[in-house]
Amino acid sequence: MIVIKMGGAEGVNLDAISQDVAALVKQGQAVVMVHGGSAETNLISTQLGHPPRFVTSTSGFTSRYTDRETLEIFAMVTAGKINTLLVERLQRFGVNAFGLSGVDGRTILAQRKEAIRVIENGRKIMLRDDYTGKISSVNADLLHLLLQAGLTPVIAPLALSPEGDALNVDADRAAAMVAGALKAEKLILLTNVPGLMRSFPDESTLIAHIAAKDLEQALDFAEGRMKKKVLGATEALDMGVSSIIFADGRVEHPVMEALAGKGTVISA
Ligand code: ADP
Repeated sequence: MIVIKMGGAEGVNLDAISQDVAALVKQGQAVVMVHGGSAETNLISTQLGHPPRFVTSTSGFTSRYTDRETLEIFAMVTAGKINTLLVERLQRFGVNAFGLSGVDGRTILAQRKEAIRVIENGRKIMLRDDYTGKISSVNADLLHLLLQAGLTPVIAPLALSPEGDALNVDADRAAAMVAGALKAEKLILLTNVPGLMRSFPDESTLIAHIAAKDLEQALDFAEGRMKKKVLGATEALDMGVSSIIFADGRVEHPVMEALAGKGTVISA
């Protein structure tokens, strides 16, 4: 079982990823895909006159402030456009892909963050009416059912709260939770950089391997949203995923190269 998360950043090679996935599925490999949609959401929400607002939590993590309108735009873009186009591409290359978001069939449940404490202009403030969540569980049975039926699940990063609210969840961490719940061997996070760099953006400082025990230290190198990937890797390792690979999604064979150990490999 392999879980592949495709980033929303510019330059990621959708055709190449889909072709690699098709080759793996043909070999009988079980694959589950998770995708993001941050860049596209920024673009479309700006076009709709509701530009994105990013906030930094007191612990240093940046996230999208998601009021109800932002949540609706996020759903439209991720579960609507990006999910459908990824399924379209996979279908074109012969994969019977099945698109869903974490809301469908309660695939991903999350606890809504009632109030988030953020730092803005050097001041601590509380934000309420935020529709983001922390994932509490993944419906592995449903995903197994789809896989057994010969379908390849493609998951958009939304979750459902116990109160019945759809929530925006971080796609890297969603992929990590999905990989953990499915007891996947490998989690591949494809993005628009070759992997984690000790001194970003100097590619000569790419870190080839990180041992699990050194992962916390790696948080220091990661800036901005890269931090979420490191956090996701920690969660996946804790749930028994044996290796997590941060790899370049822009190359000719993104998935095959990641499986061959290119990028940053995190393992015990
Ligand atoms: P995606 O949408 O593909 O998941 P993100 O934008 O969330 O991608 O995260 C990848 C980005 O993280 C890179 O494009 C890079 O700008 C940034 N980044 C921050 N720190 C690092 C680092 N130490 N090594 C590599 N990339 C980093």
